Amino acid sequence: MQKPFVALVGRPNVGKSTLFNRLAGEPLAIVDDTPGTTRDRLLSESEWNGRAFHIVDTGGIDPSVGGKDPLSIGSADYIEQIRSGAEIAIREADVVLLLTDALSGVTPADKEVAQILRRNQKIVDGKPYPPVLLVVNKADNETYRMGAAQFYELGLGEPYPISAVHGTGTGDLLDVLVESFPPEEKEEEDDSVKIALVGKPNVGKSSLLNKLVGEERAIVSPIAGTTRDAVDTKIIYDGIPVTLIDTAGIRRRGKVEPGVEKYSVIRSMRAIERADVGLLMIDAVTGITAQDAHIAGYVLEAQKSTVVLVNKWDAVEKDNETMQQYTEVIRRDLKFIAYVPILFISVKSGQRVDQVMPLALKVQEERLARLTTGQLNRILQEAQDNHAATSSSGRSLRIYYGTQVRSDPPTFMLYCNDPKLAHFTYVRYLENQIRKVYPFSGTPIRLVFKARR
Ligand code: GDP
Ligand code: GDP
Repeated sequence: MQKPFVALVGRPNVGKSTLFNRLAGEPLAIVDDTPGTTRDRLLSESEWNGRAFHIVDTGGIDPSVGGKDPLSIGSADYIEQIRSGAEIAIREADVVLLLTDALSGVTPADKEVAQILRRNQKIVDGKPYPPVLLVVNKADNETYRMGAAQFYELGLGEPYPISAVHGTGTGDLLDVLVESFPPEEKEEEDDSVKIALVGKPNVGKSSLLNKLVGEERAIVSPIAGTTRDAVDTKIIYDGIPVTLIDTAGIRRRGKVEPGVEKYSVIRSMRAIERADVGLLMIDAVTGITAQDAHIAGYVLEAQKSTVVLVNKWDAVEKDNETMQQYTEVIRRDLKFIAYVPILFISVKSGQRVDQVMPLALKVQEERLARLTTGQLNRILQEAQDNHAATSSSGRSLRIYYGTQVRSDPPTFMLYCNDPKLAHFTYVRYLENQIRKVYPFSGTPIRLVFKARR
């Protein structure tokens, strides 16, 4: 079942990230402790009245193509960024929340964003789509709540006053939000391996898809599925049913002018959500960008597997060190997914394209793999013998035994003296010890600590 995407839009400082954090679930403990590599969170999941949904803070999305720092808001071109955020949201989200600020009242920037949103809504079943809910934040007291009525001026209907800091009004807002969701649609289930092609425009996604579909080992099924944001191609590869989820093809249906195609973070995320394995394509000529890292981070957060494909390898001038240098840069920028395989390909010349599907399928196979309890406990025992956990408080982590409780993705329950003593670096160490025995290539693994009774 696809969960709806809710996008937060508005100028800087209205409280988007505060509201995001209030609505968002707990982040996975994957935040890197090295300065400069922490990923800002753009996307999270939330639930209200039994309906789960995604929430996206467009304030953090750098919609421009290229390596610009996504956090350069506040610079002179910030109005350009809000515009882009609004355009992305209205084109790709299921519901848009436009945030405004009760303290500053209606500003020219609010009017402009409201206008962009209204202009880009379509009429579906006689109603504007996607729905836009007008949120007046920082309405911390009754005076401001009353004052919210002035925002009717924006032409987006009833303003919902809230205080993201105190939490007042958010319940009513969420009630209306959930009511505005599109009806729940059941996705037809099949047991094919779902592989999504994601990456910036022009990295070669469509070209690769055509190549994969044309491979000798691939038999294309005539039934192609189309969802709102992706086109599915079903193939049988070496006897294995595979669904290729393509985010590139769809854009040609929209009325986006040529040359202004934006890196579609939301669209990529929707594709990833439906996938088992994401093929993250990077352009060898332009190199890895902040947006690539965002997508990679989301694949991890969604607990999906990843293969990094560095495409256009033909267009790079190289000597026998180039591949190593590229690998180092990617490993550095994608430090949080050190376990992903990297393949250097040229869709144009065909170089190593025949390795793409075997690699993706191998990653999927490892995603489904299971360690025996005996294997796991030998690893845990040896890991602790070689390097016991230490702690400044004097009490340190002691793991008694563990068991793999599930695959897809591999999840290990470790019974210990106190889960609170499981610190990031030691958890990472244990993860590495497990991967030495079985690599779980391309796949995140989860270690869950439980106190032994
Ligand atoms: P963003 O740039 O839109 O993501 O805004 P932030 O979430 O970073 O918030 C900007 C500032 O507004 C911060 O100092 C917040 O503490 C403050 N803020 C956010 N929500 C509220 C609220 O409901 N009431 C008040 N008084 N301040 C708020
Ligand atoms: P998409 O937007 O990610 O779907 O990218 P396309 O598949 O449309 O490719 C964008 C451009 O890159 C096209 O002009 C392709 O011919 C070109 N391209 C794709 N793969 C390669 C490659 O391996 N090498 C070179 N030099 N160009 C490529």
